[in-house]
Amino acid sequence: SAKDAKTGVVMYDPQTLVHQPNRLLLLGDLRRALERQDELALYYQPKVGLNVDRLCGVEALVRWNHPVRGMVSPAEFVPIAESTGLINRLTVHVLALALRQARSWLDAGHEIPVAVNLSPRCLLEPTLLDTVRDLLTRHGVPARLLRLEVTETAVMGNPTLALETLTGLHRQGVRLAIDDYGTGYSSMAYLKKLPVDELKVDRSFILNMTASDNDAILVRSAIDLGHNLGLTVVAEGVETAEHVDALRLLGCDIAQGYHFARPMPAAEVVAWLRASGR
Ligand code: C2E
Ligand code: CA
Ligand code: CA
Ligand code: CA
Repeated sequence: SAKDAKTGVVMYDPQTLVHQPNRLLLLGDLRRALERQDELALYYQPKVGLNVDRLCGVEALVRWNHPVRGMVSPAEFVPIAESTGLINRLTVHVLALALRQARSWLDAGHEIPVAVNLSPRCLLEPTLLDTVRDLLTRHGVPARLLRLEVTETAVMGNPTLALETLTGLHRQGVRLAIDDYGTGYSSMAYLKKLPVDELKVDRSFILNMTASDNDAILVRSAIDLGHNLGLTVVAEGVETAEHVDALRLLGCDIAQGYHFARPMPAAEVVAWLRASGR
């Protein structure tokens, strides 16, 4: 709520009023969902090469099929998990599901790298390194097939600890990506120190790149920066053939977005691969 300076009237933000009890209810339900483990599932969105038209991997995106509310967006429940300790359990669950899936694709003859999102808090979790190592071993997945995505903001929150965690993961052979690039701050000097392999340009810049010169310039400089640092550059939120053409001209390596495919259940990925000839 905010007090209007002139009238002295306290105005309640309807969002907060509706939102707070909602958050509490969801929190309880999420705790239960994590115990029972049958309402959370992963969808997978393909990442496609722009030079060679090939599948380069998939990003795992968590979905919550709530018994009463139906599908709850991760944009809604991941922040709730983050503001409580639940995010670590959610992450372990997501990692296990993603690695089990990578293993079952391997068994079917498909070597598909899988990317998992790490919340800022996970980078500060001392057990993360052991958890990742154990899960890779338990599921029999080579570390190079696991990608972990972290945001610049997550890294900048506690650069020393984050660097330590990322270095440990990298030593295990796990690939790392900077997610949502362009939305936070990070100096080139700092990026250079991070053991990352991939830069994912945030979809807000891709969305307008064919309409706004500023966004086109931003995308171009992100691609150049990534390449100067020896990173693979991925564009997120690629929705149109125009985006694809523009990104190809700029030398972007990989694209992900509705133009190629929406996130889909694991069972549809191989069919999509066949149908698209990739
Ligand atoms: P993100 O990591 O930036 O993931 C990309 C989001 O963009 C996904 O939303 C995806 O469905 C959406 N997207 C992909 N292509 C397009 C496109 O062409 N146009 C548009 N408009 N959107 C597109 P989603 O699945 O709703 O996930 C939202 C966010 O929730 C993710 O953003 C990520 O930050 C978080 N999230 C999802 N799964 C997990 C998870 O397992 N763990 C954690 N910590 N966060 C997760
Ligand atoms: Ca991501
Ligand atoms: Ca992203
Ligand atoms: Ca995002």
